[in-house]
Amino acid sequence: MKNKFLQKTSRKVLALGLVAMLAATSFVGCGKKDAATTSEPTVAPTETVEAPSGEIAYTPGTYSATVTGMHEMTVTVTVSETEITDIKIDHQETAGVGEPATKSLPADIIAAQGLGVDGVSGATLTSTAIFDGVKDCLKQAGLSDAGIEKLMTIKLTEAVEEDQELTADVVVIGAGGAGMAAAVTANQAGKTVVVIEKASKMGGNTILSGGALNAVDEGSETAIANKDSVENHYNQTFNGGDGEGDPVLVHTLIDNAWSGVEWLKSLGMEFKDGVFTVTGGMWPRAHKPVEPEGTGFFKTYQAYVDSHEGITMVYNTTAKDLIVENGVVVGVTCEGKTGNTVIAKATNGVVLATGGFGRNIEMRVKYNEINKKWPTLDETIPSTNTSGITGDGIIMAEAIGANLVQMGNIQLLPLGDPNTGSLSGNIEHAVESRIFVNLEGNRFVNEGGRRDEMTLGLFAQPETKMYIVMDSDTYPEGNELNNFGESIADLVAAGRALKADTLEELATLMNVPAENLVATVEDYNRYCKGGDLEGQTDSFGRTLFTDTDEINNGINNGPFYAAVRVPTVHHTMGGVQINEKAQVIDTNGNVIPGLFAAGEVTGGIHGTNRLGGNALTDTVVFGRIAGAGASEFTK
Ligand code: ADP
Repeated sequence: MKNKFLQKTSRKVLALGLVAMLAATSFVGCGKKDAATTSEPTVAPTETVEAPSGEIAYTPGTYSATVTGMHEMTVTVTVSETEITDIKIDHQETAGVGEPATKSLPADIIAAQGLGVDGVSGATLTSTAIFDGVKDCLKQAGLSDAGIEKLMTIKLTEAVEEDQELTADVVVIGAGGAGMAAAVTANQAGKTVVVIEKASKMGGNTILSGGALNAVDEGSETAIANKDSVENHYNQTFNGGDGEGDPVLVHTLIDNAWSGVEWLKSLGMEFKDGVFTVTGGMWPRAHKPVEPEGTGFFKTYQAYVDSHEGITMVYNTTAKDLIVENGVVVGVTCEGKTGNTVIAKATNGVVLATGGFGRNIEMRVKYNEINKKWPTLDETIPSTNTSGITGDGIIMAEAIGANLVQMGNIQLLPLGDPNTGSLSGNIEHAVESRIFVNLEGNRFVNEGGRRDEMTLGLFAQPETKMYIVMDSDTYPEGNELNNFGESIADLVAAGRALKADTLEELATLMNVPAENLVATVEDYNRYCKGGDLEGQTDSFGRTLFTDTDEINNGINNGPFYAAVRVPTVHHTMGGVQINEKAQVIDTNGNVIPGLFAAGEVTGGIHGTNRLGGNALTDTVVFGRIAGAGASEFTK
């Protein structure tokens, strides 16, 4: 395949910038080496700003500090009298999520000789921990608090890059799950592709997800054992969204789910054996990748990009406006990292895959008014989303006449970390074996039910907080990792989970009345397998219980665990209207030629409530359809 990219780039690469650029190149870093130089601007050229002399002085040596990001890590800093000469991070941060920050951030700090450099988006916990560790080391090296404050003001300055114009057969906007599925599909169809991505790496929200992907392999042993079928998946998805999803789109999603899994496998992605029920998934049909969180998808996509010609990843570049010529979408105007203009033009179609608007508080508040479902979606409510998920694609498409549908359908989860809103720190491993308890020690909802019902239930509790409570049956080996690669021991050590030998002791740690917690658990245990009310629907309508051969499967096998959780904005089901070919529809009901959309930027598939495990299915199924459609489109 010929390289068809036209571009003009001229860049003054200073030595320090080059260090940062090399260090920032992790597995989610750059695109194809042969696809011209647009694949490189992961970190722009940099210059340092001098610290005023006299204020920054160190006692030369090497210093270490232990801090906690996603996991515990050791930060080791070497200084001369005037400079930070080396930063080493000994860590177990997740590949593709926290791990890139352990490389790029030390390089940026050294390049700037300052702590005012930007943390890595999507890796907030890791970035904060690195900053804390470096500060600790510098204090050990004798730097005063005033010196630290001074360093906090010193950042990298970036040389302005030149404007550029890129051309490819297909332009994809957004390198999350849907965008990368589209890009790979278009490339498989023989097309060159430019992928425009706002962040410094691929992944979007998809890489932060638990990785669960719902799909039914109709007629397989697993599906038969679980009494599952494509029809069951369809019905639960459609009904789970209160019948608001477009039946044609729901069918497209569900009917193509398993072939999506097979496609991922054909690209080399590995899944664990069997299926499980993800929270809010309603049924055991979620496939779990071998790699943690959503990283398996992007290892797979990155490996494809690296081993095939013709996909150019353009990072740190934000799409601003779709370009329309004679009623046809032909490209997009973007802003590069340094404010320069990047124009990407498609000879075939454009795919919009910029995700939802979970991190756009203005849009959240505005569109929550439609259904008034949530008491508030203002800044007090955190989000699981990465910071770039601000509805850009929805805004861009609306500006050229796209129809927006079901914008009031916004999904929250009851499982947010109270500090970050992230799903990390979650101690549950299966819906069936844990309960939710409020600050009074009482259950309040069917914990196996719909995501919206669980979260609305949580909003009605004191302080809008709850604990997930479970026993040691969840951890038969003791070192099982959650979707974020965290063990219960990690979480307990970090103070993010509580552990006690008895329920009474656990209640004390939770600061809830012990008699209530004990009574709550006793009541719950009666409905579990082996309990005296086994088989009956419990007080909150719960039907999902652990089903093993133990005498009583309730919460009765210490030590016991609890972790606090809050509501967090997770998925926005409204968005750009599409048809089953992923073509974008305008406000008059007509197809907008040249524009395809996939993933969370679209609306009308999941209705009022997206089933857990269906979002990744959406990215793969509609990403592939959009990629194929854009490849076939001709003006
Ligand atoms: P989906 O699940 O629909 O694929 P993701 O959240 O995984 O959505 O990915 C969306 C991607 O789009 C993210 O990587 C995000 O940084 C990117 N993105 C959002 N807005 C823009 C924009 N204006 N220009 C380029 N990329 C964008």
